[in-house]
Amino acid sequence: MSVREPQRATEPPAPSSRYLDAVIETMARPELNELQAARLAEMVPYVYERSALVRQTWTAVGLKPGDVSSLEDFVERAPFLDKDAVRAFRLASRDPFGGLLCAEPEELALLGSTSGTTGDATPLPQQPRGPMVVGLSRDFWEAGCRPGDMVAYLMFTFRAGHGIERFDRIPLAPIFLDQGGADIETFVEAARRFRPKLAYTVNNVVVHALEAYSERTGEDLADALAGIEAVIFGGEPMSSRARRLFDRCGVRIQEMTTLGDVCGAIECRERAGYHAWEDLALVEHLDPHGTEPVEDGARGELVVTSLTDRAAPVIRYRTDDIVELTRMPCACGRSHARFRVLGRKGDEVLVDGRSVLPRDVWPAVEAVPATAAALFQIVRPARECDRLRLRVGHSGDTAAAGLAGDVADAVHARLGLRPEVELVPEQELLRLGPPHKIPRVTES
Ligand SMILES: [Zn+2]
Repeated sequence: MSVREPQRATEPPAPSSRYLDAVIETMARPELNELQAARLAEMVPYVYERSALVRQTWTAVGLKPGDVSSLEDFVERAPFLDKDAVRAFRLASRDPFGGLLCAEPEELALLGSTSGTTGDATPLPQQPRGPMVVGLSRDFWEAGCRPGDMVAYLMFTFRAGHGIERFDRIPLAPIFLDQGGADIETFVEAARRFRPKLAYTVNNVVVHALEAYSERTGEDLADALAGIEAVIFGGEPMSSRARRLFDRCGVRIQEMTTLGDVCGAIECRERAGYHAWEDLALVEHLDPHGTEPVEDGARGELVVTSLTDRAAPVIRYRTDDIVELTRMPCACGRSHARFRVLGRKGDEVLVDGRSVLPRDVWPAVEAVPATAAALFQIVRPARECDRLRLRVGHSGDTAAAGLAGDVADAVHARLGLRPEVELVPEQELLRLGPPHKIPRVTES
């Protein structure tokens, strides 16, 4: 098995097809499991041979690839990896890849990285036409992209590179833009002039900048964005302002997250949860504080295993994402799992035994006009706290009298918990981001 053996770039189907890879996307569960078992049987020895961290983890429990001969064996016996294990390996070995890199540098298509919002930015090596590209091509097709269309490609740090090869399966023309406010005029101008079919990706900062632009210029955004059929919204929970803006402009929103960094996961047009491509990753959904699977549809931790990645595959990687996941087929006809992200395991704060995640606080903060940008942090010195503490950004030069009380009231009305609220100017919180995404939970 070679890294250089790329996924085949087959011709796209007829434009009227709902699916880019119909056979895989709608595969019945038994066949999908067979495909997973076959890919896993190749992946496990490959990774064991090349990944120092995986070999160390398996050796520690006395397990060898030959001991695992089925999917059942694998989920029964294979040890877990998590962020801490990767970080510890990285520190001890001074290997920036944390012992996960399985390919030679010259075999890689590009070297991206995670955003580093909650710690170190982690390198994300990618092979030619790896799972990121395969998954994203299907998602772009579902979003309505067809050969010849233009796509506004907005990235906040270009941390995944320009990713030109993302556009070779469906020949699309990308317009590369920065997500920052400074590039917003270019985005509007490009949208008006080239009428891209899709904007990938937008977030609350882009929405903020679009609204400020419209206020400043008096320009009607509905007119400027008229050609955009869909936006892919990613990186953070969507504010209701964002929803209102795109609804008013008649632009469909499809949200995006990652499948434990194996590939992206984007909602289909039915908007019934992120689709997890299970031919690219073995997806498990486990008790966040244990090893047993939780029921379909219940709250659990997302655990992923790469099935096709040759660059830096992960094996039973506990993502720290608390999700609700179901394998019920979607209305779009796809058979793969769908999930919603509720938060990070490490972001959960237990206030008087009650679980609070940033998404629980979000709607209350943004309901107060002076804090409507929802720039806030949960201050969490420990997992369990007596009191909910929030640091909240406000839009004025000085906070209006009573504002902290208004925010506390709004949170209390929603959660039944009265928080302690510290107000700071929005700009101060924006500085904490890398650069447009702020950590939502902080120790102090
Ligand atoms: Zn669907």
